[in-house]
Amino acid sequence: MTDEQSWAVAEVFQGVPLGLYMHVPFCATACSFCAFYQERPLRESLERYLAGMEAELALLKFERPVSTVFWGGGTPGLLPAEDLLRLGEAMLKVTKGPTQEWTVEVAPSVIKPDKLKALKQLGVSRISMGVQTFKASLLEALGRRHGPAQVYQAYAWAREAGFKNINLDLMFALPGQSFEDWREDLEQALALNPEHISTYCLTFEEDTALYAKLMRGETRKRSADEEAEFYLKTWEILRAAGYEQYEVSNFARPGYACQHNVDTWRMAEWVGVGPSAASQYEGWRYHNVPSIDTWLGGLASGKLAHGDRHALSVEGVAADALIFGLRLNAGVDLAGLGQRFPMVTGMPALDDFFNNLASEGLLVFEGSSIKLTDAGRLVADGIGLRLLEYFDQD
Ligand code: SF4
Repeated sequence: MTDEQSWAVAEVFQGVPLGLYMHVPFCATACSFCAFYQERPLRESLERYLAGMEAELALLKFERPVSTVFWGGGTPGLLPAEDLLRLGEAMLKVTKGPTQEWTVEVAPSVIKPDKLKALKQLGVSRISMGVQTFKASLLEALGRRHGPAQVYQAYAWAREAGFKNINLDLMFALPGQSFEDWREDLEQALALNPEHISTYCLTFEEDTALYAKLMRGETRKRSADEEAEFYLKTWEILRAAGYEQYEVSNFARPGYACQHNVDTWRMAEWVGVGPSAASQYEGWRYHNVPSIDTWLGGLASGKLAHGDRHALSVEGVAADALIFGLRLNAGVDLAGLGQRFPMVTGMPALDDFFNNLASEGLLVFEGSSIKLTDAGRLVADGIGLRLLEYFDQD
């Protein structure tokens, strides 16, 4: 990258929020649909991990405040309360106190009142609970270690601990899940009255037990029409219950959108800490290696081992800001985008592309903004792929 290019990229990130993502790679067992890097939570591994996190955090020196924090996994809530406190205290030295939003993912099978108390004491403001479904047989098929009773118990404990911002993660289009099953899942989630609900369509990732079953012909993937029906039913039910859809898969009570994720989709900057954590920072995109041993080896030598490290280009960030911005219901303000990425306003072909989407009923113009319609949201991935063709990606 020339000095001129790196200066242009630095300009694009002037004044954007800074997020901190901390990865906790431990899972008690592997869920059948999950391809994330994960480790068994042996005490010795936990100790080495915690020492590594303290060392990596100590390397961070931010020149501006961290706006939001997200602890994801793996299963952060699997750490014992004293380890959560240790990790949190190491992080608070970097952020110099709690940030405006601090989310921690928890699993109903392992979260306990003492852990929730520790998280509250640290200043965690948001709990994200991996429920997936309330149906015992479907939970078992997914390899989840909890049943519906544990979801209710964990949720009650989180409220008792004082958490006023709780997300429930749910999944649809599961093998054997009928539309009626999914409606019941949504109704049970709504009965708990969480501030936020995330709804994900099952995907078959390679190297998962579910994918192996698919390959053996023991399960089937839903057709695109069936998936679309799941999406549309979800949107109808959650909107009718007063939840605002702010992204294809995310719904919240007014004021409870996950700011960390919104900043990510708006192409802000974030720094990932921990094995496999991804970063977009100071003109580079990269991730830490997905191995505790290699990650610790890098820390010991004073140089973190990064995978897939590449310099960002203004065109690449502009494309991502458009693609991910369109997944948001607020859409993309083209005037604002043009100020941040002047080359976008000089692309007549892009105007034609948006006009065509509008004539197909997939997009609407509102003032200086463009927004996908529901029909557009159903094909947001395909629109994103087509958009990429307009940008010169290195
Ligand atoms: S879904 Fe979550 S808990 Fe299950 S294996 Fe993946 S990271 Fe672990």
